[in-house]
Amino acid sequence: MMSGVTESRLRALLVREEDTFRRKHPESTRLFERAKKSLLGGVPMPWMTEWAGPHPVFLKEARGARVQDVDGHIYVDFCLGDTGAMTGHSPRAVVDALIRQAQKGITAMLPVEDAIWVAEELGRRFGVPSWQFALTATDANRFVLRIAREITRRPKVLVFNWCYHGTVDETFITLRDGVPVLRKGSVGPPVDPVLTTKVIEWNDVDALEEALSPRDVACVLAEPAMTNIGIILPEPGYHQALREVTRRYGTLLVIDETHTICAGPGGYTAAYGLQPDFVTIGKPIAGGVPAAAYGFTEEVASSIMRRKSDILDSSDTGGIGGTLSGNALSIAAMRATLSEVLTDQAFEHMIALAKRFEEGVQGVISATKAPWHVVRLGCRVEYRFQPNVPKNGGEAAAWINPELDRFMHLYALNRGILLTPFHNMALMSPVTTEEDVDLHTRVFREAAEELLA
Ligand code: PMP
Repeated sequence: MMSGVTESRLRALLVREEDTFRRKHPESTRLFERAKKSLLGGVPMPWMTEWAGPHPVFLKEARGARVQDVDGHIYVDFCLGDTGAMTGHSPRAVVDALIRQAQKGITAMLPVEDAIWVAEELGRRFGVPSWQFALTATDANRFVLRIAREITRRPKVLVFNWCYHGTVDETFITLRDGVPVLRKGSVGPPVDPVLTTKVIEWNDVDALEEALSPRDVACVLAEPAMTNIGIILPEPGYHQALREVTRRYGTLLVIDETHTICAGPGGYTAAYGLQPDFVTIGKPIAGGVPAAAYGFTEEVASSIMRRKSDILDSSDTGGIGGTLSGNALSIAAMRATLSEVLTDQAFEHMIALAKRFEEGVQGVISATKAPWHVVRLGCRVEYRFQPNVPKNGGEAAAWINPELDRFMHLYALNRGILLTPFHNMALMSPVTTEEDVDLHTRVFREAAEELLA
């Protein structure tokens, strides 16, 4: 028995839900069988195998907060492309901008005026003035780690146990019994990350001080609240300490806002007055079109310019690149998203809905006395099948129950709700409605009652 649920009951319910899934998805099954012959594992990306059920459903179309699969089922989408579609799917303003720009050139290796507008707007939102573009948040993080090492002339970076920042080699490290080790599942690591990276638990100021005091750490790469092992909020005073200790030891602070943009129009950084040296962001900033950005302070910009011969002059082969980065189409999509979609009013709506979602889930947890909890950050909500709120990645990881997660996702999917395949996250878009949220609350209640019966 873990999380209040007996294994035999969970297994029986999972078998029943898988049967339901098979009956309801003949067309997705047919496509999956065909795909297995030309796509490794029958999917375009390995992580697509993580969807609950015997195989993923195939997408027919996605609009607003709804997804339709090839068998004609319509889902309320709380996964929203794992944040890539936090804007809602295909927002009108972005589609119009894409059509306009696609007719005028997609990529030309030349700057467009819109890039200035986007950089100015990102500067206004996140408080750092100087910006560069990439196509994925992974790349934005990779480039920033390089720049940080280059300008500090220090070899190491520091990350938090169970963080995720994309496929960034230096970050695939975890603590096992307090000892840093290569993260389980890391494929063909180029070097042992223990050589490149220090890893500590989130919310542990003493460990931070100890790790930074040898002054060999170029930068700390942090989500301002962890979101990839469930949501783990910073404890009161933690961000002040993080900033103070990084400054004291000359370590740069990189805040990855790729998910925590859920906290508001300027992410967690603006909502809580952080003062990072770098901000990185990707996923939703172009409404789902591949685009990412990284920004930095004037001080960092001057350090880069002082080392101009290394960073700018060898810019085509210096390790910071991407022929398509900063392309006109992505930039047009970013401008449309920032000016018309992820607006202040949109966030008000999204955050109010997330509060309703959180209250709904909390109501069910209280009524059923399930040993679970729910956490919210802005328009992002996450529940965990764990009685206490963890304060770091290690405490959260100890309770992960993939089978229970899988059951909940499949139960929801079979009842018209899409949750992210990784943990139990729900995201609100500008076009999500109260009815959508209430549908989830009803389905969550039914699932909890069946599990705990
Ligand atoms: N940063 C964070 C915080 C993320 O969660 C992710 C992906 N989940 C990334 C960066 C990388 O994004 P992408 O896979 O789009 O490069």
